[in-house]
Amino acid sequence: MEHVTRIVIIGGGPGGYEAALVAAQLGAEVTVVDRDGLGGSAVLTDCVPSKTLIATAEVMTTFDSSYEELGIIVADDTPPLERAARVVGVDLGKVNRRVKRLAIAQSHDITQAVTRAGVTVLRGKGRLGADGQGVDGSREVLVDREDGSTETLRADAVLIATGVRPRELPDALPDGERILTWTQVYDLEELPRELVVVGSGVTGAEFAGAYQALGSKVTLVSSRDRVLPGEDPDAAEVLEEVFRRRGMNVMSRSRAETVKRVSTRTGATAGATAGSPAGGGAGEEGGDDHVEVTLADGRVITGTHCLMAVGSIPNTADMGLEQAGVTLNDWGQIKVDRVSRTTAPGVYAAGDCTGVFMLASVAAMQGRIAMYHALGDAVQPLNLKTVASNVFTDPEIATVGYTAADVACGKMDAVEIKLPLRGNPRAKMQGIRDGFVKLFCRPGTGIVVGGVVVSPRASELIHSISLAVDNNLTVEQVASAFTVYPSLSGSTAEAARQLHIRKREDADS
Ligand SMILES: Cc1cc2nc3c(=O)[nH]c(=O)nc-3n(C[C@H](O)[C@H](O)[C@H](O)COP(=O)(O)OP(=O)(O)OC[C@H]3O[C@@H](n4cnc5c(N)ncnc54)[C@H](O)[C@@H]3O)c2cc1C
Repeated sequence: MEHVTRIVIIGGGPGGYEAALVAAQLGAEVTVVDRDGLGGSAVLTDCVPSKTLIATAEVMTTFDSSYEELGIIVADDTPPLERAARVVGVDLGKVNRRVKRLAIAQSHDITQAVTRAGVTVLRGKGRLGADGQGVDGSREVLVDREDGSTETLRADAVLIATGVRPRELPDALPDGERILTWTQVYDLEELPRELVVVGSGVTGAEFAGAYQALGSKVTLVSSRDRVLPGEDPDAAEVLEEVFRRRGMNVMSRSRAETVKRVSTRTGATAGATAGSPAGGGAGEEGGDDHVEVTLADGRVITGTHCLMAVGSIPNTADMGLEQAGVTLNDWGQIKVDRVSRTTAPGVYAAGDCTGVFMLASVAAMQGRIAMYHALGDAVQPLNLKTVASNVFTDPEIATVGYTAADVACGKMDAVEIKLPLRGNPRAKMQGIRDGFVKLFCRPGTGIVVGGVVVSPRASELIHSISLAVDNNLTVEQVASAFTVYPSLSGSTAEAARQLHIRKREDADS
């Protein structure tokens, strides 16, 4: 009888469900164990909800920042000087209901697709069994079900794709009402009047920009010199300048130490304790509450709400991993190689719990690679140099390939060009003032090795540069492809043309 490989996947986010689809297509018997719902945090609390919220914010910013220049008249009798700067408003309760509806619908669609492919989905908490590898080389996976029972599965290969959760600081514990993590903001019915965002990485910057656009007064507390310390410095500078111009209070080199909820009626500290009594939104019973954020240098910032975006913790504890021979690093992330193998035979890991590159696309790719490898299919090891990523602020910041930091530290020898969008005809027509296209190419061959786009919808514009990086195209090849006139992508071709000219001048000199 033909042996059918049994695969058990713990975690149903992009790392898990994409792997499940591939494994089922390759003929394996596949079970996905997930405790919260398929789609994982990516669909239920992180990526999909935040981008849905940002979709509303984007419409607000586009309208707000360009309607006057584009000649649009707003029917508003209020004399201009008395009229608030903002002419459109938002019903946050409605926005958040849409966010949650879309997330649940997407999780449902994924469950249907996975089930249709023949995958068994088990709701519960999975962990590796104590007996390690059985005599037949199989592994034991225990599933703690919601009814209190425990189910035992045997697998020829196990994939761990359990993701991460928001990091909490002991002196700034979220209460889900005034002090929030990014998973809790979708329960708000009213827009925070004054939002303090702690953390200026991608998540902090995206939420700070979004709430600013929706109408909150935002303070962004950053412990670093500038926002987005991990991104292209020119791109981060543009964004910080835009944030400040729009009225955001960006506090650099400011480390938040404690966050407290305070009731001004009683003067009492409501406490930064998880599960503290309900206070409601601004303007409701308890609506005089505010939050106090104390910085390391003693300064205190107040707001009506605080969003903590200070990183994440991998969901790898109490899963029997180390007992099974799976090595974790000091942060609890699972050590994997480029085909997603852990240090334990037959155990693979994918996605955020490995800390390799915290993106849904990378999680999915790691999961698929694990299954190709486990099931003996042709496999290409993970190549992080072709990953395209995007910061969904306004303007967006999209990046692919080698970066300015790689060039600066000598990891890649490349020449660079930066073309501001200001000179692009389509940008002028659309009233776009901020942003640029940056390309990096090898000095001798002109092969494109990286790029950055800062613009509205940069996430769409980066694809041509991704294609170039992935296929080792030269600047000549990128420059010779037609672009539409007028279009923002014309700037990518123009940047490639200018790099080509510079290359020729360098060769002549
Ligand atoms: C606010 C925010 C916005 C983001 N936006 C983007 C974006 O726009 N684009 C992008 O590419 N990435 C984005 N990311 C990152 C992206 O969400 C992650 O990279 C992605 O979710 C990783 O997928 P994963 O499969 O590793 O884990 P997850 O999506 O976290 O899924 C893991 C699943 O495992 C379950 N689980 C955990 N432990 C167990 C257990 N013991 N047993 C059973 N189930 C378990 C969890 O409940 C969860 O359902 C964003 C992240 C955040 C925080």
